[in-house]
Amino acid sequence: MKTVFEWGAPGRRCTILPALDVEEVLPKAPFRETAPRLPELSETEVSRHYTELAEQVFGVNDGFYPLGSCTMKYNPSVNEEMCSLPGFTGVHPLQEDATVQGCLRVLKTAEEYLCAVTGMDAVTFQPAAGAHGEFTGLLLIKAYHTERKDTKRTKVIVPDSAHGTNPATATMCGYEVINLPSGADGLVDLAALKAAVGEDTAGLMLTNPNTCGLFEKDILEITKIVHEAGGLVYYDGANLNGIIGVARPGDMGFDCVHMNLHKTFSTPHGGGGPGSGPVGCKAFLAKYLPGHAVSGDGELRRTRAEMSLGDMRAFDGNFLVVVRALTYLLMLGREGLPEISKNAVLNANYMMEQLKDVYPMAFDKNVYHEFVITMEKSAKNGGVSAMDIAKTLLDHGMHPPTMYFPLIVHEALMVEPTETESRETLDAVIRVMKEIHEEAVRDPESIKASPKRAPIGRPDEVEAARNPVIRYRF
Ligand SMILES: *Cc1c(COP(=O)(O)O)cnc(C)c1O
Repeated sequence: MKTVFEWGAPGRRCTILPALDVEEVLPKAPFRETAPRLPELSETEVSRHYTELAEQVFGVNDGFYPLGSCTMKYNPSVNEEMCSLPGFTGVHPLQEDATVQGCLRVLKTAEEYLCAVTGMDAVTFQPAAGAHGEFTGLLLIKAYHTERKDTKRTKVIVPDSAHGTNPATATMCGYEVINLPSGADGLVDLAALKAAVGEDTAGLMLTNPNTCGLFEKDILEITKIVHEAGGLVYYDGANLNGIIGVARPGDMGFDCVHMNLHKTFSTPHGGGGPGSGPVGCKAFLAKYLPGHAVSGDGELRRTRAEMSLGDMRAFDGNFLVVVRALTYLLMLGREGLPEISKNAVLNANYMMEQLKDVYPMAFDKNVYHEFVITMEKSAKNGGVSAMDIAKTLLDHGMHPPTMYFPLIVHEALMVEPTETESRETLDAVIRVMKEIHEEAVRDPESIKASPKRAPIGRPDEVEAARNPVIRYRF
């Protein structure tokens, strides 16, 4: 497709300003002598340019988008309507509390709901994403140990099935990461955990259900082992789709949790945000929370916690994302929330059951909201790989699942259908995946040559990530 510099012609404009009919008063000196090389386009060209760009994008509104762990789900339009209300978009974060009572009420109500969902006692909305929330959460844990002068706690335990942000976060916080190998069943190995904890344990970071879609059945024992060693337990709640409304991290023994409003709570994401990764914690950690707490029975006020970390970000976080999340929560209510997880779990298990005869599953058991296929055997024997399957799905108008993650499964395809896909969509996807399998058996080379219909085939992804060309070369 043409770039914006290849459209248009010199002098072309969207609006025609009348010629200058007064004296030009701006001095020449501080200004550039040559005009910047901006594209010059007519209104039709601008509008076609953006439409063409939009057509190159694939989103949840285009089709099935089963991005395991990342929950690309339905983003109700009513969310957008609510967060476009001028009362929300027209305020300034430095306004006096008395003049933004409605916005403070949004923050307070959203905090109450998220506490109810997670079993925590307080929430900060400052973090702008999941990884940012993890960083905030671990700083709370660090502040706790520091205040107790328990400074020998220098290690954070992270299972090898964890999202990559977990070890990165622990390292950013100055901790040494202890990698905990999972058992053959994909779960935390209790003996290995007992051997790993000690006087130097600051905490454990855990995702449950984990990134294999499996629920840690020994979760109460796990959190107890860490607590008895003097450490705290962090819950990676980026994706709560597997348990929301049914089980709560707070009841499992976790001290601190982050949630991704741009996953579970239906804010569109991808392409850089904005996101929101609020952090919830138990009461004993609340005094360290960053930013401002909203309190008061009648008139609401913003106050600093007693030993606040300071600010993780300016002001009150990505406020409009919180408006969307609250809209979603209010719409579903207490009765509706369990329907999310029940349907997410049903959809994942339905798809897995229908596919397991043709695609080898990484674990032979029921899952929660996502399941993991492994193409290891096929790839090793010169057959098709996870990448080949993913690229072929593009030709069928579907976004591929998460690939090559979790790291403990080789040639992984991690599928999260989400709760909002219908039986018909799931059946259509199952049919396509079976067809792809048949073709892979009959003519693997054809699958390896995919995609055949996408605008871009197989770019060098490492090169594209490390050396992106983002400037137009005149
Ligand atoms: C997405 C995700 C994260 C990171 O969230 P970002 O908003 O991308 O920083 C962390 N953990 C898990 C399990 C995730 O799925």
